[in-house]
Amino acid sequence: NAMTSPAASPADVCFVQVEKKFDTTTALHSLDLEIERGSLFALLGPSGCGKTTTLRLIAGFEQPTAGHIYIRGTDVTGLPAYKRSFGMVFQSFALFPHLTVAENVAFGLKMRNVPKPEIAAKVAAALELVELGTFADRYPRQLSGGQQQRVALARAVVFEPDVLLLDEPLSALDKMLREQMQVEIRHLQQRLKMTTVFVTHDQEEALTMADRVAVMKDGRIQQAGTPRDIYDRPLNEFVATFLGASNIIEATVKGTEDTGTVIDVAGNTLRIRAIPATTGTRLRFALRPEKISIGPITGSTTTGVSATVREAIYRGSQTLLYLDIGGMPVNAVVQNAGVEPMNLEPGAVVALHWDNANMVALEPTP
Ligand code: ATP
Repeated sequence: NAMTSPAASPADVCFVQVEKKFDTTTALHSLDLEIERGSLFALLGPSGCGKTTTLRLIAGFEQPTAGHIYIRGTDVTGLPAYKRSFGMVFQSFALFPHLTVAENVAFGLKMRNVPKPEIAAKVAAALELVELGTFADRYPRQLSGGQQQRVALARAVVFEPDVLLLDEPLSALDKMLREQMQVEIRHLQQRLKMTTVFVTHDQEEALTMADRVAVMKDGRIQQAGTPRDIYDRPLNEFVATFLGASNIIEATVKGTEDTGTVIDVAGNTLRIRAIPATTGTRLRFALRPEKISIGPITGSTTTGVSATVREAIYRGSQTLLYLDIGGMPVNAVVQNAGVEPMNLEPGAVVALHWDNANMVALEPTP
Protein backbone atom coordinates (compact mmCIF):
# COMPACT_ATOMS: atom_id res chain seq x y z
CA ASN A 1 0.00 0.00 0.00
CA ALA A 2 1.83 3.05 -1.32
CA MET A 3 -0.46 5.44 0.57
CA THR A 4 0.82 4.34 3.96
CA SER A 5 4.56 3.92 3.62
CA PRO A 6 5.49 3.24 7.26
CA ALA A 7 9.17 4.03 6.75
CA ALA A 8 8.33 7.61 5.77
CA SER A 9 5.88 8.20 8.60
CA PRO A 10 6.84 9.70 11.97
CA ALA A 11 4.55 7.17 13.67
CA ASP A 12 5.90 4.99 16.47
CA VAL A 13 3.11 2.47 16.09
CA CYS A 14 1.58 1.82 12.71
CA PHE A 15 -1.13 -0.67 11.73
CA VAL A 16 -1.63 -1.32 8.02
CA GLN A 17 -4.88 -3.13 7.24
CA VAL A 18 -4.64 -5.25 10.35
CA GLU A 19 -7.33 -7.87 10.71
CA LYS A 20 -7.83 -10.13 13.73
CA LYS A 21 -10.17 -13.08 13.69
CA PHE A 22 -10.86 -15.47 16.55
CA ASP A 23 -12.49 -18.52 14.94
CA THR A 24 -15.72 -17.03 13.61
CA THR A 25 -15.49 -13.66 15.43
CA THR A 26 -13.81 -10.82 13.59
CA ALA A 27 -12.45 -8.68 16.43
CA LEU A 28 -10.79 -6.17 14.06
CA HIS A 29 -11.66 -5.38 10.44
CA SER A 30 -8.74 -4.08 8.38
CA LEU A 31 -7.56 -1.51 10.89
CA ASP A 32 -5.31 1.37 9.85
CA LEU A 33 -3.72 3.26 12.71
CA GLU A 34 -0.84 5.69 13.16
CA ILE A 35 0.37 6.70 16.59
CA GLU A 36 2.84 9.54 16.62
CA ARG A 37 6.06 9.31 18.59
CA GLY A 38 5.81 10.79 22.07
CA SER A 39 2.04 11.12 22.00
CA LEU A 40 -0.68 9.71 24.21
CA PHE A 41 -3.21 7.85 22.10
CA ALA A 42 -6.53 6.62 23.51
CA LEU A 43 -8.50 3.67 22.17
CA LEU A 44 -12.06 4.47 23.21
CA GLY A 45 -15.19 2.41 22.76
CA PRO A 46 -17.82 0.18 24.34
CA SER A 47 -17.20 -3.34 25.59
CA GLY A 48 -16.25 -5.76 22.83
CA CYS A 49 -15.30 -3.12 20.25
CA GLY A 50 -11.73 -4.42 19.94
CA LYS A 51 -9.71 -2.04 22.14
CA THR A 52 -7.90 -4.70 24.15
CA THR A 53 -7.26 -6.80 21.05
CA THR A 54 -5.59 -3.77 19.45
CA LEU A 55 -3.39 -3.27 22.52
CA ARG A 56 -2.49 -6.99 22.67
CA LEU A 57 -1.48 -6.87 19.00
CA ILE A 58 0.93 -4.00 19.74
CA ALA A 59 2.39 -6.04 22.61
CA GLY A 60 2.64 -9.21 20.53
CA PHE A 61 0.38 -11.24 22.86
CA GLU A 62 -1.75 -11.75 19.76
CA GLN A 63 -0.78 -11.90 16.09
CA PRO A 64 -2.87 -10.44 13.26
CA THR A 65 -4.64 -12.77 10.83
CA ALA A 66 -3.89 -10.24 8.05
CA GLY A 67 -2.00 -6.98 7.65
CA HIS A 68 1.18 -5.58 9.18
CA ILE A 69 2.25 -3.87 12.38
CA TYR A 70 5.25 -1.53 12.51
CA ILE A 71 6.93 -0.19 15.62
CA ARG A 72 9.46 2.61 15.07
CA GLY A 73 9.44 1.78 11.37
CA THR A 74 10.30 -1.91 11.85
CA ASP A 75 7.84 -4.57 10.74
CA VAL A 76 7.17 -6.52 13.95
CA THR A 77 4.34 -8.64 12.53
CA GLY A 78 4.84 -12.15 13.88
CA LEU A 79 7.44 -11.09 16.47
CA PRO A 80 6.58 -12.56 19.89
CA ALA A 81 5.97 -10.30 22.90
CA TYR A 82 9.30 -11.02 24.61
CA LYS A 83 11.17 -9.62 21.59
CA ARG A 84 9.27 -6.33 21.65
CA SER A 85 10.00 -3.25 23.75
CA PHE A 86 6.94 -2.20 25.72
CA GLY A 87 5.88 -1.55 29.28
CA MET A 88 2.36 -2.46 30.29
CA VAL A 89 -0.02 -1.54 33.08
CA PHE A 90 -3.13 -3.62 33.64
CA GLN A 91 -6.49 -2.83 35.20
CA SER A 92 -5.61 -5.06 38.18
CA PHE A 93 -2.09 -3.48 38.59
CA ALA A 94 -0.71 -7.07 38.73
CA LEU A 95 1.99 -6.29 41.33
CA PHE A 96 3.85 -9.20 42.93
CA PRO A 97 2.49 -9.29 46.50
CA HIS A 98 5.58 -10.98 48.01
CA LEU A 99 8.00 -8.38 46.58
CA THR A 100 8.61 -4.87 47.94
CA VAL A 101 7.85 -1.80 45.90
CA ALA A 102 11.51 -1.51 44.85
CA GLU A 103 11.70 -5.23 43.98
CA ASN A 104 8.52 -4.97 41.92
CA VAL A 105 9.99 -2.09 39.94
CA ALA A 106 13.38 -3.85 39.60
CA PHE A 107 11.82 -7.07 38.30
CA GLY A 108 11.88 -6.23 34.57
CA LEU A 109 15.45 -4.94 34.81
CA LYS A 110 16.65 -8.16 36.48
CA MET A 111 14.96 -10.18 33.75
CA ARG A 112 16.93 -8.13 31.23
CA ASN A 113 20.21 -8.78 33.11
CA VAL A 114 20.87 -5.12 33.82
CA PRO A 115 23.90 -4.75 36.18
CA LYS A 116 22.95 -4.36 39.86
CA PRO A 117 24.19 -0.81 40.53
CA GLU A 118 22.38 0.35 37.43
CA ILE A 119 19.19 -1.33 38.63
CA ALA A 120 19.35 0.48 41.97
CA ALA A 121 19.78 3.85 40.27
CA LYS A 122 17.01 3.26 37.74
CA VAL A 123 14.57 1.99 40.37
CA ALA A 124 15.25 5.01 42.59
CA ALA A 125 14.70 7.37 39.64
CA ALA A 126 11.46 5.63 38.60
CA LEU A 127 10.09 5.76 42.16
CA GLU A 128 11.05 9.42 42.38
CA LEU A 129 9.17 10.00 39.14
CA VAL A 130 5.94 8.66 40.62
CA GLU A 131 6.65 10.33 44.00
CA LEU A 132 7.07 7.07 45.88
CA GLY A 133 10.72 7.49 46.79
CA THR A 134 10.04 6.88 50.50
CA PHE A 135 7.90 3.77 49.87
CA ALA A 136 10.63 1.56 48.37
CA ASP A 137 10.63 -1.03 51.18
CA ARG A 138 6.87 -1.39 51.61
CA TYR A 139 4.81 -4.26 50.26
CA PRO A 140 1.89 -3.70 47.87
CA ARG A 141 -0.67 -4.54 50.57
CA GLN A 142 0.66 -1.59 52.61
CA LEU A 143 -0.22 0.86 49.83
CA SER A 144 -3.42 2.61 48.75
CA GLY A 145 -4.96 1.84 45.34
CA GLY A 146 -3.50 4.98 43.82
CA GLN A 147 -0.03 4.20 45.20
CA GLN A 148 -0.20 0.64 43.83
CA GLN A 149 -1.11 2.09 40.48
CA ARG A 150 1.93 4.38 40.60
CA VAL A 151 4.17 1.39 41.38
CA ALA A 152 2.73 -0.40 38.35
CA LEU A 153 3.52 2.68 36.27
CA ALA A 154 7.08 2.91 37.61
CA ARG A 155 7.58 -0.77 36.79
CA ALA A 156 6.30 -0.23 33.24
CA VAL A 157 8.53 2.77 32.42
CA VAL A 158 11.73 1.88 34.34
CA PHE A 159 13.41 0.12 31.40
CA GLU A 160 12.53 2.98 29.00
CA PRO A 161 10.44 0.94 26.57
CA ASP A 162 9.58 2.13 23.05
CA VAL A 163 5.89 2.07 23.90
CA LEU A 164 3.85 2.23 27.11
CA LEU A 165 0.58 0.25 27.00
CA LEU A 166 -2.16 1.01 29.53
CA ASP A 167 -5.19 -1.29 29.65
CA GLU A 168 -8.00 0.48 31.57
CA PRO A 169 -5.41 1.33 34.26
CA LEU A 170 -7.76 3.49 36.33
CA SER A 171 -11.01 1.55 36.32
CA ALA A 172 -10.30 -0.06 39.72
CA LEU A 173 -10.01 3.35 41.41
CA ASP A 174 -12.81 5.50 42.80
CA LYS A 175 -13.86 8.62 40.92
CA MET A 176 -11.81 11.21 42.81
CA LEU A 177 -8.62 9.19 42.70
CA ARG A 178 -9.22 8.30 39.06
CA GLU A 179 -9.45 11.98 38.10
CA GLN A 180 -6.28 12.75 40.03
CA MET A 181 -4.43 9.82 38.40
CA GLN A 182 -5.59 10.91 34.94
CA VAL A 183 -3.72 14.17 35.42
CA GLU A 184 -0.70 12.41 37.01
CA ILE A 185 -0.35 9.88 34.19
CA ARG A 186 -0.67 12.67 31.65
CA HIS A 187 2.10 14.69 33.32
CA LEU A 188 4.34 11.63 33.65
CA GLN A 189 3.82 10.74 30.00
CA GLN A 190 4.62 14.29 28.90
CA ARG A 191 7.74 14.46 31.06
CA LEU A 192 9.02 11.17 29.61
CA LYS A 193 7.67 11.91 26.11
CA MET A 194 6.90 8.22 25.93
CA THR A 195 4.61 6.96 23.18
CA THR A 196 1.61 5.71 25.12
CA VAL A 197 -1.47 3.76 24.09
CA PHE A 198 -4.32 3.92 26.55
CA VAL A 199 -7.44 1.73 26.49
CA THR A 200 -10.60 3.14 28.06
CA HIS A 201 -14.37 3.00 27.74
CA ASP A 202 -14.67 6.34 29.57
CA GLN A 203 -15.10 9.21 27.15
CA GLU A 204 -14.17 11.92 29.65
CA GLU A 205 -10.97 10.08 30.47
CA ALA A 206 -10.04 9.89 26.79
CA LEU A 207 -10.85 13.57 26.19
CA THR A 208 -8.91 14.65 29.32
CA MET A 209 -5.76 12.67 28.72
CA ALA A 210 -5.15 11.99 25.05
CA ASP A 211 -3.44 13.86 22.24
CA ARG A 212 -5.49 11.77 19.83
CA VAL A 213 -8.42 9.43 20.29
CA ALA A 214 -9.65 6.58 18.12
CA VAL A 215 -13.33 5.87 18.70
CA MET A 216 -14.03 2.19 18.03
CA LYS A 217 -17.17 0.15 17.49
CA ASP A 218 -17.56 -3.43 16.27
CA GLY A 219 -13.88 -3.83 15.37
CA ARG A 220 -13.72 -0.66 13.32
CA ILE A 221 -12.32 2.79 13.99
CA GLN A 222 -15.27 5.10 13.59
CA GLN A 223 -13.15 8.25 13.84
CA ALA A 224 -9.65 9.19 14.94
CA GLY A 225 -8.62 12.71 15.82
CA THR A 226 -7.83 15.19 18.56
CA PRO A 227 -10.31 15.32 21.45
CA ARG A 228 -11.63 18.58 20.02
CA ASP A 229 -12.05 17.07 16.53
CA ILE A 230 -14.09 14.12 17.66
CA TYR A 231 -16.16 16.09 20.15
CA ASP A 232 -16.89 19.11 17.95
CA ARG A 233 -16.87 17.44 14.53
CA PRO A 234 -18.20 13.89 15.00
CA LEU A 235 -18.42 11.98 11.72
CA ASN A 236 -21.42 9.86 12.57
CA GLU A 237 -24.17 9.37 15.13
CA PHE A 238 -22.24 6.75 17.09
CA VAL A 239 -19.30 9.09 17.69
CA ALA A 240 -21.61 12.04 18.42
CA THR A 241 -23.58 10.21 21.09
CA PHE A 242 -20.75 8.10 22.55
CA LEU A 243 -18.85 11.29 23.41
CA GLY A 244 -21.53 12.73 25.66
CA ALA A 245 -25.00 14.03 25.05
CA SER A 246 -25.80 15.15 21.56
CA ASN A 247 -29.04 16.10 19.88
CA ILE A 248 -29.66 14.41 16.58
CA ILE A 249 -31.48 16.94 14.42
CA GLU A 250 -33.42 15.55 11.46
CA ALA A 251 -33.74 17.83 8.46
CA THR A 252 -34.86 17.88 4.85
CA VAL A 253 -32.98 19.81 2.16
CA LYS A 254 -35.23 22.48 0.61
CA GLY A 255 -32.74 23.86 -1.87
CA THR A 256 -29.43 25.56 -2.38
CA GLU A 257 -28.85 29.30 -2.62
CA ASP A 258 -25.70 31.38 -3.16
CA THR A 259 -25.40 31.80 0.59
CA GLY A 260 -25.69 28.12 1.44
CA THR A 261 -28.09 25.22 1.74
CA VAL A 262 -31.64 25.74 2.99
CA ILE A 263 -33.03 23.02 5.24
CA ASP A 264 -36.28 22.36 7.04
CA VAL A 265 -36.14 21.35 10.69
CA ALA A 266 -39.59 20.44 11.99
CA GLY A 267 -41.22 23.27 10.04
CA ASN A 268 -38.44 25.82 10.65
CA THR A 269 -36.36 27.07 7.74
CA LEU A 270 -32.63 27.25 8.46
CA ARG A 271 -29.68 28.26 6.30
CA ILE A 272 -26.45 26.34 6.70
CA ARG A 273 -23.09 26.34 4.95
CA ALA A 274 -23.49 24.89 1.43
CA ILE A 275 -23.38 21.11 1.42
CA PRO A 276 -23.62 18.84 -1.61
CA ALA A 277 -27.15 17.44 -1.17
CA THR A 278 -30.07 17.53 -3.57
CA THR A 279 -33.52 18.92 -2.72
CA GLY A 280 -35.60 16.44 -0.74
CA THR A 281 -32.60 14.64 0.80
CA ARG A 282 -33.09 13.74 4.48
CA LEU A 283 -30.09 14.62 6.64
CA ARG A 284 -29.09 14.13 10.26
CA PHE A 285 -27.05 16.63 12.23
CA ALA A 286 -25.40 16.51 15.63
CA LEU A 287 -25.92 19.55 17.85
CA ARG A 288 -24.53 19.66 21.38
CA PRO A 289 -26.99 20.77 24.10
CA GLU A 290 -24.53 23.40 25.36
CA LYS A 291 -24.48 25.09 21.92
CA ILE A 292 -28.14 26.03 22.27
CA SER A 293 -29.23 29.17 24.08
CA ILE A 294 -32.78 30.16 24.95
CA GLY A 295 -34.68 33.40 25.00
CA PRO A 296 -38.25 34.57 25.30
CA ILE A 297 -40.58 34.68 22.30
CA THR A 298 -40.77 38.42 21.72
CA GLY A 299 -43.93 39.65 20.03
CA SER A 300 -44.00 39.41 16.27
CA THR A 301 -40.21 39.33 15.71
CA THR A 302 -39.70 35.59 15.50
CA THR A 303 -35.99 34.99 15.51
CA GLY A 304 -34.72 31.58 16.47
CA VAL A 305 -36.62 28.34 16.53
CA SER A 306 -39.69 28.14 18.73
CA ALA A 307 -39.80 25.20 21.11
CA THR A 308 -42.01 23.95 23.89
CA VAL A 309 -40.54 23.20 27.32
CA ARG A 310 -41.24 19.62 28.45
CA GLU A 311 -39.17 19.71 31.61
CA ALA A 312 -36.59 22.00 33.20
CA ILE A 313 -34.14 20.56 35.71
CA TYR A 314 -32.34 23.06 37.92
CA ARG A 315 -28.72 22.04 38.50
CA GLY A 316 -27.27 24.99 40.38
CA SER A 317 -24.92 26.54 37.85
CA GLN A 318 -26.90 25.18 34.89
CA THR A 319 -30.41 24.28 33.89
CA LEU A 320 -31.02 21.17 31.82
CA LEU A 321 -33.96 21.62 29.46
CA TYR A 322 -35.97 18.95 27.69
CA LEU A 323 -37.68 20.64 24.79
CA ASP A 324 -39.71 19.83 21.75
CA ILE A 325 -39.44 21.47 18.32
CA GLY A 326 -42.54 20.55 16.35
CA GLY A 327 -42.53 17.03 17.81
CA MET A 328 -38.74 16.57 17.64
CA PRO A 329 -37.12 16.20 21.09
CA VAL A 330 -34.15 18.51 21.75
CA ASN A 331 -32.12 19.01 24.92
CA ALA A 332 -30.36 22.19 25.94
CA VAL A 333 -28.03 23.06 28.80
CA VAL A 334 -28.07 26.70 29.76
CA GLN A 335 -25.87 28.54 32.25
CA ASN A 336 -27.86 30.11 35.06
CA ALA A 337 -25.40 32.91 35.86
CA GLY A 338 -26.84 36.25 34.86
CA VAL A 339 -29.78 34.78 32.98
CA GLU A 340 -33.06 36.62 33.42
CA PRO A 341 -35.48 34.25 35.11
CA MET A 342 -37.87 33.03 32.42
CA ASN A 343 -40.97 30.96 32.49
CA LEU A 344 -39.66 27.42 32.02
CA GLU A 345 -42.77 25.63 33.25
CA PRO A 346 -43.80 22.60 31.19
CA GLY A 347 -45.74 23.89 28.17
CA ALA A 348 -43.99 27.29 28.05
CA VAL A 349 -42.90 28.34 24.56
CA VAL A 350 -39.36 29.70 24.19
CA ALA A 351 -37.06 30.69 21.34
CA LEU A 352 -33.96 28.57 20.75
CA HIS A 353 -30.86 30.07 19.20
CA TRP A 354 -27.75 28.38 17.93
CA ASP A 355 -25.03 29.07 15.42
CA ASN A 356 -25.82 26.82 12.47
CA ALA A 357 -22.08 26.24 12.08
CA ASN A 358 -22.41 24.04 15.18
CA MET A 359 -24.75 21.69 13.33
CA VAL A 360 -22.51 18.85 12.16
CA ALA A 361 -23.81 16.81 9.21
CA LEU A 362 -23.52 13.10 10.04
CA GLU A 363 -22.63 10.18 7.81
CA PRO A 364 -24.29 6.80 8.31
CA THR A 365 -22.53 4.72 11.02
CA PRO A 366 -20.69 1.80 9.35
P1 ATP B 1 -13.78 -4.77 26.90
O1 ATP B 1 -13.90 -3.31 27.16
O2 ATP B 1 -14.99 -5.53 27.32
O3 ATP B 1 -12.50 -5.36 27.37
P2 ATP B 1 -12.72 -4.63 24.20
O4 ATP B 1 -13.15 -3.45 23.40
O5 ATP B 1 -11.39 -4.56 24.81
O6 ATP B 1 -13.83 -4.95 25.29
P3 ATP B 1 -11.82 -7.05 22.94
O7 ATP B 1 -11.44 -7.72 24.20
O8 ATP B 1 -10.74 -6.54 22.09
O9 ATP B 1 -12.86 -5.88 23.23
O10 ATP B 1 -12.74 -8.05 22.10
C1 ATP B 1 -13.19 -7.81 20.79
C2 ATP B 1 -13.99 -8.99 20.28
O11 ATP B 1 -13.15 -10.14 20.13
C3 ATP B 1 -15.10 -9.42 21.22
O12 ATP B 1 -16.20 -9.81 20.45
C4 ATP B 1 -14.49 -10.59 21.97
O13 ATP B 1 -15.50 -11.48 22.39
C5 ATP B 1 -13.60 -11.21 20.92
N1 ATP B 1 -12.42 -11.87 21.53
C6 ATP B 1 -11.42 -11.28 22.19
N2 ATP B 1 -10.48 -12.17 22.59
C7 ATP B 1 -10.91 -13.38 22.16
C8 ATP B 1 -10.40 -14.72 22.24
N3 ATP B 1 -9.22 -14.97 22.85
N4 ATP B 1 -11.12 -15.72 21.70
C9 ATP B 1 -12.29 -15.45 21.08
N5 ATP B 1 -12.82 -14.23 20.95
C10 ATP B 1 -12.17 -13.20 21.47
